[in-house]
Amino acid sequence: MKNQKKNRIWLGISASPGIAIGRAYRLDREEIKIKEEDLSSHQVEEEALRFKKALNEAKIEISKLKESITKKLGSEHAKLFDAYLLILEDEYINQQVLSGIREEKKNAEFIYNRVVQKTIQTISLSRDEYLKERVADISAVSNRVLNRLLGIKQHTIEPLETPGIIVAHSLAPGDVVQMKKGNVLGFATDTGGKTSHVALLAKSFGFPAVVGLKTFFSSLKGGEMLILDGDEGEVILSPDELTLKSYEAKREKLLERKRSLADLTGLPAETKDKRKIELSANIELLSDVDTAIENGAQGIGLFRTEYLYLASSDLPGEEEQYQAYSFLARKVYPQNVIIRTFDMGGDKFVQDAERVYEANPFLGWRAIRACLDLPDFFKTQLRAILKASSLGNLSIMLPMISGLEELLKSKELLEEVKSELREKKVPFDEKIKLGIMIEIPSAALEADSLAQHCDFFSIGTNDLIQYTLAVDRTNERIAHLYQSFHPSILKLIKKTVEDGHKNNIWVGMCGEMATDPKATSFLVGLGIDELSTSPLAIPQIKKIIRSIEFEEARNLAEQAMKLNDSKDIERFLDEDYQRKFSHENSART
Ligand code: PEP
Ligand code: MG
Repeated sequence: MKNQKKNRIWLGISASPGIAIGRAYRLDREEIKIKEEDLSSHQVEEEALRFKKALNEAKIEISKLKESITKKLGSEHAKLFDAYLLILEDEYINQQVLSGIREEKKNAEFIYNRVVQKTIQTISLSRDEYLKERVADISAVSNRVLNRLLGIKQHTIEPLETPGIIVAHSLAPGDVVQMKKGNVLGFATDTGGKTSHVALLAKSFGFPAVVGLKTFFSSLKGGEMLILDGDEGEVILSPDELTLKSYEAKREKLLERKRSLADLTGLPAETKDKRKIELSANIELLSDVDTAIENGAQGIGLFRTEYLYLASSDLPGEEEQYQAYSFLARKVYPQNVIIRTFDMGGDKFVQDAERVYEANPFLGWRAIRACLDLPDFFKTQLRAILKASSLGNLSIMLPMISGLEELLKSKELLEEVKSELREKKVPFDEKIKLGIMIEIPSAALEADSLAQHCDFFSIGTNDLIQYTLAVDRTNERIAHLYQSFHPSILKLIKKTVEDGHKNNIWVGMCGEMATDPKATSFLVGLGIDELSTSPLAIPQIKKIIRSIEFEEARNLAEQAMKLNDSKDIERFLDEDYQRKFSHENSART
């Protein structure tokens, strides 16, 4: 066997949390081998028909999958299969294949594969991460068509003989849908990224998963013992007894912690001396709202509406948006839902709006800038939110505000939409709150004047850090420079909270720092009013809030503000956190 060595650690990307321990099941798939064949003139039309038939059969197959996932997970996840169907209906690809068959007189699989590979190559050159990840979708779809043309049976994931961990070169979302909980303990793949659909589905189904393991699959024979650590994004191959024992203990502790944190669900997020913090959740998909509620979220602090089209690769119309916002309002009522208007651009791809090549997309045509350039598009979203607001629990939040002009211009458009609705006698919440994200340093510096024109602030540390430190948040080469606890960041946060409070508006945080347990006491100490975290982090953050005194947190924040080195600050906050919660953390080590 190639890897006799014990405890060999393979580092990948964490796609879905949790620990799985079990034997590896290699998912060997029949390799698609494509031959180039010449056709005689009279065979050509028959070949074109054969291609159309394969497309059709693939469509039927995908529609069935869509139906099944709608039943299991709801229509949100099923949207992916609409994207698949769109790929199958792509006129550009299909026309090229048909004319290739007719003009070159070659077999359908040869021409189809060539056209698809060329499309994939072009997309792979793109710097757009979202677009790059769609390569996996195109491959999954084209494999189905090729299987049909070549008479290869479509892969299915049969139940494993004994529960185990699936290891594959790559997996398609359709594969994850077929995995049975309890039978499949988790999965590991060589390809894939954090925000791929496969990762999203793994999280929704609760499968621990590690992706991006590069050559792990080919190094396995199958049947080896594995520890898959979805939190750390690593796989340990052939662990020795000691390692196995320690991970079994870690898995047990994580489960225990989950159970004990679950007891907190109905309790308020308040400090020991009764200072209340609004603890809400960030969501991307409508289906995430259930996880948020189950974990005790007091509302939705950030709904990233751009996922309405990122998930379906189509811009949602007014009706679809209205349905989505109404669904959330009803589901979360009487708690509040903050709908953030589209934040497209940057690393999020826009399908239909005017997209042009940009050397620096993060400094380019993104979020509120794009919305203000496309007032009809923006007004459609505002109208959909307003129409869904009758219950009185929706708020609007604007992303990427850099200064007063953008805020005032947005308010003008909002007022226009409101008057149009009044004229048509369409009911909406007249008192709907309008807030802005503070995620550009200029906005933090101008917080005092901005606060006079809006109802709340939510600090977006993900972007605030990248723009303040000039570090691209998606570039792994400079990830070490992306320092959440840089003194400049702490100063901007402090200033934002103070300026908000001076003007009597509440200040929250929806950037990832709100999800970092090391930061919780510090943020409470600065006087933050709301923390919006990832749904699964809510119980842990709540536990911290419930174990501290406000005064003590204020002192901590004061001390941290005196330090002027990121590493010192992080160490200082971490030490405080470890001191108080080390028994909790031992589950993670
Ligand atoms: C942020 O920038 O911190 C934020 C919450 O927005 P996003 O991550 O969607 O850019
Ligand atoms: Mg942001």
